[in-house]
Amino acid sequence: MPVLCSSCGDKRAVLKRPKTGHSLCKACFFWAFEEEVHQTIVTANLFKHGEIVGIAASGGKDSTVLAHVMKLLNERFNYGLELMLLSVDEGISGYRDDSLETVKRNQQQYELPLKIVSYEELYGWTMDAIVKQVGRKNNCTFCGVFRRQALDRGALMLKVDKICTGHNADDIAETVLMNVLRGDIARLRRCTAVSTSSEGDGVVPRCKPLKYAYEKEIVLYAYFKKLDYFSTECIYSPNAYRGHARTFLKDLESVRPSSIMDIIHSGENLSVRDGVKMPVQGTCQRCGYISSQSLCKACVLLEGLNRGLPKLGIGKHHRLHDKILTQQPLTEKEERKLKAVNF
Ligand code: SF4
Ligand code: ZN
Repeated sequence: MPVLCSSCGDKRAVLKRPKTGHSLCKACFFWAFEEEVHQTIVTANLFKHGEIVGIAASGGKDSTVLAHVMKLLNERFNYGLELMLLSVDEGISGYRDDSLETVKRNQQQYELPLKIVSYEELYGWTMDAIVKQVGRKNNCTFCGVFRRQALDRGALMLKVDKICTGHNADDIAETVLMNVLRGDIARLRRCTAVSTSSEGDGVVPRCKPLKYAYEKEIVLYAYFKKLDYFSTECIYSPNAYRGHARTFLKDLESVRPSSIMDIIHSGENLSVRDGVKMPVQGTCQRCGYISSQSLCKACVLLEGLNRGLPKLGIGKHHRLHDKILTQQPLTEKEERKLKAVNF
């Protein structure tokens, strides 16, 4: 006996929703998924009529589903948004060049304007060149810091009011776990926020409309909608720490699917005691981007690359930042330590 959809009771169920366990037909699953994203958007008041919104697009499943659903909801509920795609080219041959081809196809399919900003044009370095210098252990630190700034710079060029990213519930739960394990209070407080307001000049507000969407459902949605997305992993993807958090989360989810939402809610409900010292946000004295130090992380990493001292931005070398800013020479010992690639 075929199982009937528990929502319409009419058509045959084709899937069991990972989030709720309900057996649904295709149409009811699409509706439930889209309706939940819509609820996230309206409950948190993510957008205002008339805003220009940049969708961070990598060609992967999350951002492809995000672009598809944003366009659909914008029309269905008359949000009145002007949507654009914004992509970052990290300069990873055999990976990003291929995924950007997917974004270019998405641009045609969704008829949205597309802007691509590249690390090479912004920083003078591709990730391929960075990996050559720093090896494959800390490359994601460089890539993550550069991407954050690159998206902001792209958003400023496009003059968008907001950026939305494809972070899903699994990503957020993983980040909560990682920040708990690291005791990173400042990030823990920020990472569950569905939207961040502008933190300063040059920083565009961001939001995560897929915050409550399970990764498994995003994959199902993309599959049943036959969306065109790119599913290969980055060739430089060691990020071992996140990998462990992910495996742990998947193990928890297999025992209890609500674990993902539970962890997000735990993160949301944690409050920081009065009097806990939080980093004070200022601006980078070199590039003007927000920073709690005299130099922002991107400028420190870049300085390290340009001087052949890749370790400069990894770990705590704040004392040296001032030396660099005032162009004092480093001692031989300091140089030796920062040159080591095997870190
Ligand atoms: Fe960049 Fe690391 Fe992601 Fe690859 S896995 S795109 S190097 S952050
Ligand atoms: Zn800077």
